[in-house]
Amino acid sequence: MKESEIIDLFKMKTGEDVIVGPGDDCAVLPGVSFDQYTVVTTDMLIEGTHFLKDQITAKQLAKKSLAVNLSDIAAMGAQPTYVFLSLALPKEISDQWITEFALAFKNECLRQNITLVGGDTNRSSNLIVVNPVVHGTVLKKHLKTRSGARKGDLICVTGPVGDSRAGLRLLQVQSLTSPGSDSLIKAHFEPTAQLQEGFFLGREAAVTAMMDVSDGVAADLSKLLKSSNCEGSIQLEKIPVSSELKDFCCLTKQNVFEFAALGGEDYVLLLTVNENNFLKLQSDFRSECGKDLICIGKITDGSSSKVSYFLNGQNYLLKNSSFEHFE
Ligand code: ADP
Ligand code: MG
Repeated sequence: MKESEIIDLFKMKTGEDVIVGPGDDCAVLPGVSFDQYTVVTTDMLIEGTHFLKDQITAKQLAKKSLAVNLSDIAAMGAQPTYVFLSLALPKEISDQWITEFALAFKNECLRQNITLVGGDTNRSSNLIVVNPVVHGTVLKKHLKTRSGARKGDLICVTGPVGDSRAGLRLLQVQSLTSPGSDSLIKAHFEPTAQLQEGFFLGREAAVTAMMDVSDGVAADLSKLLKSSNCEGSIQLEKIPVSSELKDFCCLTKQNVFEFAALGGEDYVLLLTVNENNFLKLQSDFRSECGKDLICIGKITDGSSSKVSYFLNGQNYLLKNSSFEHFE
């Protein structure tokens, strides 16, 4: 079974108190006051699957495990509040490693103004597992989900993609070297959640749907289109890429835009915007967040959740090799 088929096995009927159940970046539940929602997410990092212990430091792992969860909170237009942390630690792990991990995790919570309120700690036979659960809050009128995209909306991203995937490739193939490899590897080990960006975009009515990019723009856009019952077209050359990624793709002889579209672990935001309000939103986003909102495509007619790709005006068949846990 594929990951999505397994998740489907766990779907159950939910009551009216569940505003959004499985299938979005966070679950959306009743809030602490009548005008708010509580959002909750969990994302697990497993040694060997998501990281190699000898390559990532305890500090980097602590920050990354929180960032990937905060990114789901940002995707809803919400602000994080509380975190639980469950840990599985093998016997071989040193006290120094655990101490460094704990210190970094707490420092990051302080920096993000969130409180660690619980968790679970267990001995595992041989792998480290880190599993935060993050709660957040959002005004009802500012909630964004994956399901609001409409025909004619512009498809946008909030930053460059593909660096993390290239960083991972450099770690996997040690013989590979590229001029910007430090920056690509950093993107893989030290992603940041776009909380300020998500919060700003949540308040903007012109934003019709939003999610974060964890599995790559191509795979994640398909999910957004499925939730919104739409289709989309992407102009690959509009996808923002770093100069380091350009160098890497030149060296490894692959198309940089295709590589970036398939990416993964980018943790930028992917959103759809009402076309008439785009220029104003782009300008406000630049003043508020100090970065560009980049339009990469458009929501088109149809309901099949299909994405058509174009490169310099020509149809482009994207090799669909984005990450799938259960193949
Ligand atoms: P994200 O990448 O944003 O964290 P995922 O693709 O991992 O989202 O998960 C998709 C959706 O499926 C999420 O809403 C998540 O809560 C839900 N989900 C994943 N695994 C399970 C499970 N075992 N039981 C119920 N829901 C699940
Ligand atoms: Mg997500």
